[in-house]
Amino acid sequence: MNKWVYGFGSGSAEGNAEMRKLLGGKGANLAEMSNLGLPVPPGFTITTEACNSYYDNDKRYPDGMKDAVAGALKKIEAETGMCFGAPAKPLLLSVRSGSRASMPGMMDTVLNLGLNDETVAGLAQISGDARFAYDSYRRFIQMYSDVVLGVAHHNFEDILEVYKEDHGYTLDIDLVAEDWQAVTKAFKDKIASELGEPFPQGPEDQLWGAIVAVFGSWMNQRAITYRRLHDIPGHWGTAVNIQGMVFGNMGNDCATGVAFTRNPATGEKTVFGEYLVNAQGEDVVAGIRTPQPLTMAAGDGGKSVAMEATMPEVYSELNAVFELLEGHFSDMQDIEFTVQKGRLYILQTRAGKRTAAAALKIAVEMAEEGLIDKVQAIRRVDSDALERLLHPTLDPDAPRNVLTRGLAASPGAACGVVVLNADEAEHRSRAGEDVILVRLETSPEDIHGMHAARGILTARGGMTSHAAVVARGMGRPCVSGAGELTIDHDAQTFSAGVTTVKAGKVITIDGSTGDVMLGRVPTIEPKLGSEFTTLMSWVDEARALTVRANAETPEDARTALAFGAEGIGLCRTEHMFFDEARIIAIRRMIMAESEKERRAALAEILPMQKADFVVLFRIMAGLPVTIRLLDPPLHEFLPRTDDEVADLARATGRSEAEVRTRASQLHELNPMLGHRGCRLGLSYPEVYEMQAQAIFEAALEAGSEKGEAVVPEVMIPLAATRREFDLLKARIVTVADEVAKDSGKELNYLVGTMIELPRACLCAGEIAETAEFFSFGTNDLTQTTFGISRDDSVQFLATYQELGILTHDPFVTLDQDGVGELVRMAAERGRATRESIKLGICGEHGGDPASVAFCHEVGLDYVSCSPYRVPVARLAAAQAAIGPPRNE
Ligand code: ADP
Ligand code: MG
Ligand code: MG
Repeated sequence: MNKWVYGFGSGSAEGNAEMRKLLGGKGANLAEMSNLGLPVPPGFTITTEACNSYYDNDKRYPDGMKDAVAGALKKIEAETGMCFGAPAKPLLLSVRSGSRASMPGMMDTVLNLGLNDETVAGLAQISGDARFAYDSYRRFIQMYSDVVLGVAHHNFEDILEVYKEDHGYTLDIDLVAEDWQAVTKAFKDKIASELGEPFPQGPEDQLWGAIVAVFGSWMNQRAITYRRLHDIPGHWGTAVNIQGMVFGNMGNDCATGVAFTRNPATGEKTVFGEYLVNAQGEDVVAGIRTPQPLTMAAGDGGKSVAMEATMPEVYSELNAVFELLEGHFSDMQDIEFTVQKGRLYILQTRAGKRTAAAALKIAVEMAEEGLIDKVQAIRRVDSDALERLLHPTLDPDAPRNVLTRGLAASPGAACGVVVLNADEAEHRSRAGEDVILVRLETSPEDIHGMHAARGILTARGGMTSHAAVVARGMGRPCVSGAGELTIDHDAQTFSAGVTTVKAGKVITIDGSTGDVMLGRVPTIEPKLGSEFTTLMSWVDEARALTVRANAETPEDARTALAFGAEGIGLCRTEHMFFDEARIIAIRRMIMAESEKERRAALAEILPMQKADFVVLFRIMAGLPVTIRLLDPPLHEFLPRTDDEVADLARATGRSEAEVRTRASQLHELNPMLGHRGCRLGLSYPEVYEMQAQAIFEAALEAGSEKGEAVVPEVMIPLAATRREFDLLKARIVTVADEVAKDSGKELNYLVGTMIELPRACLCAGEIAETAEFFSFGTNDLTQTTFGISRDDSVQFLATYQELGILTHDPFVTLDQDGVGELVRMAAERGRATRESIKLGICGEHGGDPASVAFCHEVGLDYVSCSPYRVPVARLAAAQAAIGPPRNE
């Protein structure tokens, strides 16, 4: 018989923190905190298994669940001395969702459940505060209607606004008990007219309605979107947490708040939090009232209004809880609490969401403090998040036209066109525009728009508002609580002070300072702190894979080195050909009618190619450099515009008509699969010979400067057969012998091939007889394995992902089942022939963490990726090497 319900409260619990699969994160941690003896209001958790069983059985509760709930409710009654549904001493409940992974604000919560026309009077009596009782009742009706009955929030907001206007009130605080009583009645009338039946008065009905709603919320659209964005499987299900209510809205000795044990934006080791006096639950996160800081150290205004100053005893108790919980969970905690008449209650703790910078700082400092070890520190830094740290920030010296200022809610700079709603943000970003989503405040319904936006700007909400928390988690820069801001949806504008900005205009936000600026502000490279260096040194100890970079320009090579690249895995020589000064020589070579003419043109290019390689070898100072010989089809180099045609005609002494004829001769229907790569090398061997000569001469020159041999790796692209490879290798070896002979020096080099066709994978064993290294070109290999052209795939790949045919874009994350299987097989066959064969990957995938993990698993020697991704690949390689923690 399954146990569907686990109780917690007053010093003990049936569950614990290890049970998050079954109890969800919130339930498991509520149990753990009870076991630690923290002041947690008593309650119980309905398991995720119950939720799954509910969905598996046509939305029917599993046998025994109802009785278990009734039993657990009895225990809360016994502990609190209150009674569910009893007018004289009504027990009120909170009903909250909680899945295995934290999904802040993604699912629904109902507070004050159990109130009805009778119990509200009882609550008024025992609290001696009728205003509080009716305020609680109207909050309950609002939440319950929104979450359970499907009567939207704004209906009630509207009624309240009208009521306040009619009675000359400006703030909610101004309303007295009779007002709330009247508002409550208006709310109930609204529901009755909307639904054709009255608001449910029976506490049992209310409870089961809320349980159904929490189960249901697991399948609502925003939860589904959130899961898709965060790779959370639908079969995890959600738990339901039912807990006795405590009240932060019973007067000025009451409060509710949220705290992070360290600063989630910077990682600094200082408590960071906010609270609201005389408030309940969602008031803080909803961002409707702007909360006050917990600590006096926090910014301006902290001194007098900080909780540390206004409620010093509670604050010091709270502070002790922060220390205890952070130490206990060995991680930065995000804690929700409520103070009822001077008594502190802890309502939730979880590992806090943090920015990439904070994650890095916290991981390194906690390891240095001895709270965690290096391996844990490496796991704590998300490799995607790390990449964001490496990207540019606003140039502090650039002029800024500051429009307004808000809170620095999520760091980083973002620039884009103003968009005022989430759907449009998604739309326009799909069309390739950078957008800034500007909202009064965000809600979970905006999640897709926030994801699509470069940055988020809100008028309301504090540092722990929905916008701030979600933006930090997504790594989107965010400025929240820009109080000056007003939005006019009809006019499609927002205003700050005297300035009005139309939707579609470009603005820049700086989530590190809170500045909002008109126009585009230039950016600069980021400065990485000592934590970065420290973590990367641990990462380098832990990983097995070598990390190289794809680079051909000196700048790229230097950036790659600065980011810790251990060589160049792919130098694409055609990029060196496109240079304006050289392209004419290339075009002359293409226009040539004889080998002699072609060689003459190539002879002009030779010194330039050689100079490029000398510079590259110098920068890389002895590290391996893989150079891919010319790959793209020749027509890519031909003139396109009339002016270019005229230029080339002049340079080659041919007529424009001849130039055009040559261009059309070279035209291909399917150039991707046409005359490119080694096929070109076989038709025009003198091209590869020139390149080989440039490489070898450069290697000798750079090597003699250093007094240390440079060992270039010459890579032949797109070979499908051993014969193609052998014919070209023979020519390269001949060139090498000549260069060595002419210089009288010894020349060391490797000749290998890019493996980017399925046939090459199948025949890898044979190719390895003569190829000294393989570099998997997984872009082309993905195209040729799927038979999908990357450039034409945008149209349907999104549909494929929606239909679940593909879980990821295979051009971003390696398709392990298909393309990966070919890589695995080729690696095995290659090694079987030549044990020492060097194996690497140089496609886009080389910087994708999941693909890097795959490369580790297959046992490749290195991955090669774009320079900015090098640290990401190093971290991903280390994370792959150390594996996941035991209990996940
Ligand atoms: P989320 O997952 O969005 O954080 P929660 O389930 O934690 O949602 O609930 C939101 C808020 O409701 C909490 O921050 C807390 O302030 C309030 N709340 C939840 N349970 C209780 C309770 N038992 N007593 C008082 N307030 C509660
Ligand atoms: Mg919630
Ligand atoms: Mg919460």
